[in-house]
Amino acid sequence: MVYGQYLSSLWKDTEADYVHGHVLTCDKAASGWRLTLADGQILGASYVVLATGNFAPASLSDPRRQIPGYYPSAWQNDLYARIQPDDDVALIGTGLTAVDVLMRLREEGHRGRITAISRHGWYPTSHAAGLSGDSHVVFAETAPTARAYLAAFRQCLRSGIPWRSVVNALRSHTNTLWDRLPWEEKRRFSRHLQRRWDIVRHRMAPALGEQLDVEIRSGTLTTLKGRVEHVSAVADRVQIGIQGSNGLSSLTVAHAVNCTGPSRDYRAVGSALLTGLLEQGIVRQTSLGGWVCNSDGALQDRTGNWSTTLYALGPMRWGTLFETTAIPEIRQQAAELAHILAEQVAGLGVRFEASSGTE
Ligand SMILES: Cc1cc2nc3c(=O)[nH]c(=O)nc-3n(C[C@H](O)[C@H](O)[C@H](O)COP(=O)(O)OP(=O)(O)OC[C@H]3O[C@@H](n4cnc5c(N)ncnc54)[C@H](O)[C@@H]3O)c2cc1C
Repeated sequence: MVYGQYLSSLWKDTEADYVHGHVLTCDKAASGWRLTLADGQILGASYVVLATGNFAPASLSDPRRQIPGYYPSAWQNDLYARIQPDDDVALIGTGLTAVDVLMRLREEGHRGRITAISRHGWYPTSHAAGLSGDSHVVFAETAPTARAYLAAFRQCLRSGIPWRSVVNALRSHTNTLWDRLPWEEKRRFSRHLQRRWDIVRHRMAPALGEQLDVEIRSGTLTTLKGRVEHVSAVADRVQIGIQGSNGLSSLTVAHAVNCTGPSRDYRAVGSALLTGLLEQGIVRQTSLGGWVCNSDGALQDRTGNWSTTLYALGPMRWGTLFETTAIPEIRQQAAELAHILAEQVAGLGVRFEASSGTE
């Protein structure tokens, strides 16, 4: 909330217009782009930057059916009012979102049993106080394979550098290392190492780590390993089908919260804007989700052409980039893209002025 207020205060200092509306379509126009808003407004623009951020997690249930007690997104605040203090709850996922929901439930007085389910059952690691500055970690000569990267990481640990320092030091290089990997290796990394990387890279505050340990040790939080196959309603409870190493099992609870993190499959996030762009072939998705773009964020269309007027910023660059969801990276991308657009606009004598009208 505080960060949002800070951004709003910066926005007020710019001369940019702000239109409050939901963009339904973005179509090619005679010159530039034509955006149609849900209220019927039409906006024309020479350039469009798609900065639509994160979407809800991938669906685990039939989206046409309402399941009482099942929350498809952890960010629907009403769930805390609906869960009674002694109700049993399942958290689907064991990442930072699951930790957030667990902590908030306890803060709100929940004392019931909580079960967290994920494929590996791994929780995020904790930050450490007093960690020395970034160490110098050299990866540049490493062969571009997932296996070689893992070996280089282990080599750093063997040389005595604390693992958190290695992870921190790699942050500013991970996009370059990712870019070097052929797609087959990117997919291999994603399959075998992504989750391991996530738990060491996206860490939680030490106090939260301690609280989580207490929950696990005292048995108030149970962890199940397995892939959640489906979520359905059984009487007034929620049934979760879990594919584990011993086969299919099910867990029935009063409430279940989908904490699996934002979906990057833009074909399935339910955004008319993104679906329309994909269907028209204006953009293309990578095999890992996110959109194919170049280092400026310019989007590639179905035929392989790079746009000079349509760009993506932030989480949408996932797949092409590896680190693209946290504020430091997005801030950098935004500054670089602003510079590129300003140069293009100056060169063309175009003014950033949206023409508007109502259909
Ligand atoms: C729970 C959580 C915790 C996080 N914690 C951290 C953290 O500690 N540190 C960190 O660096 N990063 C963190 N992140 C990541 C970071 O906050 C986000 O990736 C970042 O805010 C994305 O910024 P953005 O400007 O790209 O998108 P957003 O801030 O998500 O903004 C996207 C905007 O686009 C709008 N929009 C979408 N579609 C349309 C449409 N069709 N028409 C009109 N408007 C539309 C949305 O309404 C929204 O206003 C966290 C993310 C989450 C979900």
